Amino acid sequence: MKEKEIESMRKVFGELKDRIDSLVKSPKIKALQNRVIDIRKSAIDNNEELIAIAKESFKENDIDCFYANDDEEARKILLDLINDEIERSNIDRNEVYIAKSKSNTLREIDATQFLEEQGMTIVETDLGDRILQLKKDDNSPVHPTGPASHLTVQDIAEIVNESMNLDLPAEPKPIMEAVRADVLSLIEKSFIGISGTNSIAAEDGAVLMVHNEGNISLVQSKKLHIIVAGIDKLVPLLEDCVSIGKLETAFATGKPLTSYINIVSGPSKTADIEKKLLKNMYGAEKVAVILLDNGRKEAFKECLWCIGCGNCIVSCPVYNSIGNKFGFHSYLGGRGVAMSRYLKDNQVSVDSGLYMCTLCGLCTENCPVLTPTSEIIENLRNETQKEGLSREPHKKIRDNIKDKGSPY
Ligand code: SF4
Repeated sequence: MKEKEIESMRKVFGELKDRIDSLVKSPKIKALQNRVIDIRKSAIDNNEELIAIAKESFKENDIDCFYANDDEEARKILLDLINDEIERSNIDRNEVYIAKSKSNTLREIDATQFLEEQGMTIVETDLGDRILQLKKDDNSPVHPTGPASHLTVQDIAEIVNESMNLDLPAEPKPIMEAVRADVLSLIEKSFIGISGTNSIAAEDGAVLMVHNEGNISLVQSKKLHIIVAGIDKLVPLLEDCVSIGKLETAFATGKPLTSYINIVSGPSKTADIEKKLLKNMYGAEKVAVILLDNGRKEAFKECLWCIGCGNCIVSCPVYNSIGNKFGFHSYLGGRGVAMSRYLKDNQVSVDSGLYMCTLCGLCTENCPVLTPTSEIIENLRNETQKEGLSREPHKKIRDNIKDKGSPY
């Protein structure tokens, strides 16, 4: 990231931090936090059981459920589902538009790049993500709910004007209106929607998504709605999902609720004529969920408590100095570095910043579920040392000590 972008990000983070800190002090949020800590710990301890329950519940709700061991398998399942729909709807592959909403898991499996390589057009429907998509290069997100927080309104006006051939002033409203009109016309052309989820209620066979823009409501009403989710998103009940969604919102935005909480527990249907069940009313004709392991079963349990609010990076001194180079894909900051060990391997975690962490512990202090990121990082450093993996300058110091008895 450029110095100017890091400065803009710090300014946005500073305002966000003030808002979050004043909201999360309230006894109501503290009580919610304690409830969610219990839900997440118990759900991760019983993950295997929840996977089995979810598979059954989805089946009962007429949702197709798939299990992917890794990212490659997830992409294959995703493509097979899309190909079936292309065939069923008799559509030219080069005319395939897919409406997508924000999802770390879709980014984890490189879904956009993969589907674009198959000739399809992926439409980011979240405003921040769409701006980054139009930016084309150096376009990684910097925060889970504010992906473009490092760009000023002038930067964004330039990106939008250049890619859409417009001459908008550097003001938020005209930019939002122009992007909205463009994205809506592309959503209109899409017959498939892909999304992630905030959490999954295993016993209810339902997924829950929180959002402000209303875009997920559009994505989920396409003919085929595919949801890709890590197995760590599973909790027992819908009530648990709502609690997690509320806590995540508080720690991500400093607001108590998002404008929308969407729950999907089956394809569109009606029984309004003589109580006879008819499928395919207004929403998706078919809903599919892909549950993704991709190293999660091997991960420290504490690493999977995360609810994805991003509050750890807001106060992280390393992240505030170098930005999203500290992290992996859209898994940002120290917890992202730790996840990269399981999603990829120890070398990737070293390259993502395993040795950049100061172990100050501010991330845990600011984490709603008290993820012990510094402890996890220390354990992973031990692992990488045993494997002989270090950053080049560290290796030099180690070798000097060994050979000369001095680091110099
Ligand atoms: S580790 Fe904690 S603070 Fe960071 S994103 Fe996850 S839940 Fe939020």
